[in-house]
Amino acid sequence: MTGKVSIYFPAEKETSNLRFHLHAPFASTVARDSVRECEANDALRDHLADLVSESMTAIRDQGLLTVGFLATLPNDKDNLSEFYRPVMNRLVKAFREEKLTPMKQGGHASADGIFRGLVRLSDLIADDDLATILGEGTPPMWIANPPQLNHREDNFLSMLNITEWTTNHLVNELSTHSESIVEWLARKPHEWHQGLYSLLYPLMDDFPTKWKLLTLRIVPCSDGIYRVGSECYFPSDDVEDDEDFPRVAKAVFSSGTSTTQQEKAREFLAKIGVREVGEAEQVEAILQQRYSQGSIKPRQHDMERFIELVDKEPGKASLFHKYFIFQLENGNWGKPGIVFLDAPYVDTGLRVYYEAFGEGSGRKWALSPNYHESGIELEKLRKFAKLVGVQTCLEVVETNTHENPDWRYLMGAPGRYRHESSRDTDYVIPKLEQLLQTPNEEISKLVWTTMCASQEKYLTATYRKSWSGGTRCRPSQLVHHLRNAEWIPQQRKGQQGYAFRKPVDAVAEMLPDGYPFYPGSKWLEKIEFGKTESDRKDLERRKQEKQTQDYQRKDTAAEELGFSSVEEAHEAKEMVALKHKDPAGFKRWQDSNREKASFPTRPVRNSERRKERLSQQYANAPEKRYETRERIVRTTRGEIDPETWLRNRYTKDGAQMICQICEKVMPFKKRNSEYYFEAVEVLSKDYFPKEHEAQFLALCPLCAAMYKEFIKREEIAMDSLHATLKDADDLKIPLELGELITSLWFVETHRQDIKTILNRIEDHLDSKFNSP
Ligand SMILES: [Zn+2]
Repeated sequence: MTGKVSIYFPAEKETSNLRFHLHAPFASTVARDSVRECEANDALRDHLADLVSESMTAIRDQGLLTVGFLATLPNDKDNLSEFYRPVMNRLVKAFREEKLTPMKQGGHASADGIFRGLVRLSDLIADDDLATILGEGTPPMWIANPPQLNHREDNFLSMLNITEWTTNHLVNELSTHSESIVEWLARKPHEWHQGLYSLLYPLMDDFPTKWKLLTLRIVPCSDGIYRVGSECYFPSDDVEDDEDFPRVAKAVFSSGTSTTQQEKAREFLAKIGVREVGEAEQVEAILQQRYSQGSIKPRQHDMERFIELVDKEPGKASLFHKYFIFQLENGNWGKPGIVFLDAPYVDTGLRVYYEAFGEGSGRKWALSPNYHESGIELEKLRKFAKLVGVQTCLEVVETNTHENPDWRYLMGAPGRYRHESSRDTDYVIPKLEQLLQTPNEEISKLVWTTMCASQEKYLTATYRKSWSGGTRCRPSQLVHHLRNAEWIPQQRKGQQGYAFRKPVDAVAEMLPDGYPFYPGSKWLEKIEFGKTESDRKDLERRKQEKQTQDYQRKDTAAEELGFSSVEEAHEAKEMVALKHKDPAGFKRWQDSNREKASFPTRPVRNSERRKERLSQQYANAPEKRYETRERIVRTTRGEIDPETWLRNRYTKDGAQMICQICEKVMPFKKRNSEYYFEAVEVLSKDYFPKEHEAQFLALCPLCAAMYKEFIKREEIAMDSLHATLKDADDLKIPLELGELITSLWFVETHRQDIKTILNRIEDHLDSKFNSP
């Protein structure tokens, strides 16, 4: 309805935009169709405004001032002209100061000290509740809610500056946990909470509020105590009360008839941490009650229950990390992280290792032997212990290269430091350096067997600043420690006890029993095991060889000069010397010989007898012997064809074939007019357990020779190259060939293939060594 303005008769062109009619003796314009602008009219209008606002009381008293009535009142979205605006302003003033606003619980109140909020909120939090929560004001508190937001009723109320109160305010008040709030909440029936939860439910999507909700003590349990969600459990069909696992009072999510509300309430509870009671939950409760620091109260079958749980759900192993679940050899109780296994469970040798630590930091303790007689299946106990983090073997630990003796060299890796692609890894066995200073056969054995089973990567320290700078490698700290200490026990024949030698001075033959020895092991090579002895043998062999070579050369020369042997030549030499020394004597001797210079006939006296003797002799003569010496020959190389593979990849535009190092065209063509090149395996055969074409490089003869000399015979260089090939993606890899700084380039497919191969090998090795 649009209100009209009359001045005893309708002013046709006057529009007030009000929703009610006005009639007053306004002075009109000459046309008598609208209200003229003048002071008298303003004064008259003010009187009308007073009249309108004053009549609100009468309307209220007749019971007509309802929320719906507010739609007839002007609001600031009505586009009132300047002239009529005071009518609106006067009404707003009246509503603020007088008891005119219709309230939810009935009656009217002035706009100061009352609240507006969502219907669902004011339905749940009644006027009394709100007064209690706020600790101020007296009912009525909530205004009657308009039917819809942004309609005329709501627009009018919006001008009254009534305080808005939302679910966020509610959460804030609840999180004070003040005495009055706690008491108020406790007075609420369980059914009421269901409404609260479904009201709070949408707030779980709001990040900061969510965290507040997680800490609210708003979940009543069957014992009447309010808890935070994460301390509570859902009741089950047969358990509604539970001392160990406080169950949520059932009515808080199963009241009323609205299944939507019930589901929302339950879902809300789950979101704030209420759980079902499963075996893991029960075990966790046991851990908290009986295996926390300062309150160790173990019960007989707890350990079996723990083992069973982790056996079924290995993911639950982390549950145990912070609890004192193991009894130690010294009678104390400890977390898995400070325990190791040794006899009688499994012979790890760790007891000796940790005893040598003394009481120092980092010390761990052996598991108490009590479990051995407890009836627990030992295999299961061992498996459980390992899964929850008990130490079961001597561990090599990763560290950085700062303490490596070759640190200066490693740090000198070229390039600018880039965090994402940098690398700084080294390996140690904690305290090993100190422990090896005092020789101890048991520790030596432990270290030896540990090294036999450990991964090759532990032998190398690696440093780089970035991919493109290239990687530098040196023996790891572990290798240095093992190389420098006198720790290898050597058993001397007919003597008791051991002498302890540096690896370099030790020999395999003198190792005591229980030291598995695999010649050619990488770790033995790196710690220079037996090097002194093998150097000595080498030297001897070379000396012998040289002597043999010398003799053979002389023998050949003597023969060429007509002597039958070197000895004969020596005699001749002596004779010549004699001739020079005493020419006259020599002449006499020569003449005397010449006189007798008839050829001795030495006839055969008995021909048959001689034949027979020779036959006999020959029969007994030693047969020429040949022995098959074992030589390892690679038999699989013929199964792949790296030449064709490489030719296809490194031939440019189908014509010229390029060397991967000097990047020049190969120097000559073979008779079949294909380019001659060498397919060189990129790393030594130790790196590649399988045959594959991509493991080869296409090199010109000169580069091939240099590559073999400077990379393939240089372990450190090969280690570095290996690391770069395995980790980086660059097609061009920096390479040092003696004095020459160059690079090795790849076509992309080749580069990717070789990286894949190297990483597969690594994964394979890791899984091999880490499998139980
Ligand atoms: Zn080349």
